Amino acid sequence: MWQSFSKNSKIIIIALFALIAIILFSLFRDSSESINKKRAIEIIENQTIQKASVAEPYVYIYTEDNIYKVAKEAIDIEVLFDKTLVEYQDEGTDVIDILLLLVMISFTLYIISMIKENRDRQESLFEEHREEANASISQQNILPQLSRVNFSDVAGIEDVKEELEEIIDFMKNPNKYRSFDIRLPKGVLLVGPPGVGKTLIAKAVAGEADVPFFYQSASSFVQIYVGMGAKRVSELFNRAKQMAPSIIFIDELDAVGKSRGGMNNDERESTLNQLLTEMDGFEESSGVMVIAATNKIEVLDEALLRAGRFDRRVHISLPDFKERVSILKLYLKEKNSTVDIEAIAKMTIGFNSAALATLVNEAALYALRKEKTSIDTSDIEAVKEKVLLGKHKIQTFSVEEQKIQALYQSAKAVTATWLEIDYEKIGLVSSSFIPHHNEILSKTVLENELKVLLAGRMITQEVYGELFTNAKSDIHKAKLLSQQIIEEFAMSDEYFSTHAQVENLLQDASSEVKSLLSKLRVVVEDVRVYLLKNESITPIETKRILDKIF
Ligand code: ADP
Repeated sequence: MWQSFSKNSKIIIIALFALIAIILFSLFRDSSESINKKRAIEIIENQTIQKASVAEPYVYIYTEDNIYKVAKEAIDIEVLFDKTLVEYQDEGTDVIDILLLLVMISFTLYIISMIKENRDRQESLFEEHREEANASISQQNILPQLSRVNFSDVAGIEDVKEELEEIIDFMKNPNKYRSFDIRLPKGVLLVGPPGVGKTLIAKAVAGEADVPFFYQSASSFVQIYVGMGAKRVSELFNRAKQMAPSIIFIDELDAVGKSRGGMNNDERESTLNQLLTEMDGFEESSGVMVIAATNKIEVLDEALLRAGRFDRRVHISLPDFKERVSILKLYLKEKNSTVDIEAIAKMTIGFNSAALATLVNEAALYALRKEKTSIDTSDIEAVKEKVLLGKHKIQTFSVEEQKIQALYQSAKAVTATWLEIDYEKIGLVSSSFIPHHNEILSKTVLENELKVLLAGRMITQEVYGELFTNAKSDIHKAKLLSQQIIEEFAMSDEYFSTHAQVENLLQDASSEVKSLLSKLRVVVEDVRVYLLKNESITPIETKRILDKIF
């Protein structure tokens, strides 16, 4: 019957027993009434004494209905001898005490053994589960998906499609490439914020090439049992090789690929090492293509970006106006609608593609609830706030804010182009600068980067006589960079740095960029107009505007 109780009820029962034992112990231990000499004599003289017992320093007198306790010295024991039987006990310990003590000890031992038994059982259960989990993890997710997505399901990001076109061709016709001994990258890294279609495009590559698609989120590698991350990685690669040509897609690569400095995490590190080993271990010609996604390339371990690993990088940014138009068109294609797509695209700066898909879906539901036969612009407007406040916070600007932001970003684009700092795109909501890896950098280059970071702040101060909060992230980066220049690289006259040196560096860079911008003011205005219209600008375009004037 005991077995049928749950673990918790057993503990409660045991605790109750222990409590009862303690109560009994205290009850039995000494339930006698303490009396003085006078009363003791009275009782001895007038009542029937059944028994007396001497237990230092008391004498216990048992009458028919009570037990009395009196100090041994207070009475003459001889008197008692005449009246009843007198027992002597050692040092106040009576049998009941010993018995209760034994009961207590056995209960304690019992409780200890129960706890131990419970722990052993839990451990063995854990072991069992661990084995089961390991077994199921090995099978889980290692199954490939057959992707039905193709490029026509992905709107916008035409440049990304173009870049990936070659990979698709390679997977479809590997012999063509082999005969020329052309090596394609083993890994492609898609860099961009969430919801811009990184997973979707990877699936589309698999769909277009008609090859199996292995999806794996890197964060799941490190959340499983110790030692399983690395094992999972090697199983994933084995399965992909068996089914080659195939595509492995690793989402959130930064979860395992974070730079190894700082906090150590053995599990993550062993998983990362396994990934690096696997990537080195297969031939370009094996037909396995690894596509990974991250939104934080700057935190990735350099080893991952070295030649032969993720050496091709493709940046995907938030959709610009034209891209938003094509995404909205795609999602409205199969629906009855009279929506002014361009108007909606204009008011959705900052929306990612996933949010645009949600926007159309919510609008359709809204129209349905209103019993309309088609979706119109007002339905989209009605649900816009809801989508904005949805799961992911979307950064979007009012018309006035757009003007400020365009000026700010324009100053950055012009400064970067003038000072030859590489970037892919500078836009109203996001910019992608090209990070350097494994290069020896000069102080001049670092100072130029600093100037780009300060350009936005300097131009708004100049034009509006005001500072704005949109400079937050650039200022933060500028402070870090200036500290690095002075403290880490000791790029000043003194080896040991002071706060004043860092501040001076920032001040000097600010005034230099200020005079540069006043020289380039007309270009900044033109780029600002371009940005307001197109939302982002490439270095080629900025250069074109610059060359017109200079
Ligand atoms: P990411 O991997 O960049 O976080 P996803 O690929 O998971 O983004 O995108 C989430 C969803 O958003 C997709 O399933 C799709 O419905 C929609 N989506 C994202 N980008 C696009 C796009 N370029 N074209 C069409 N739909 C898109």
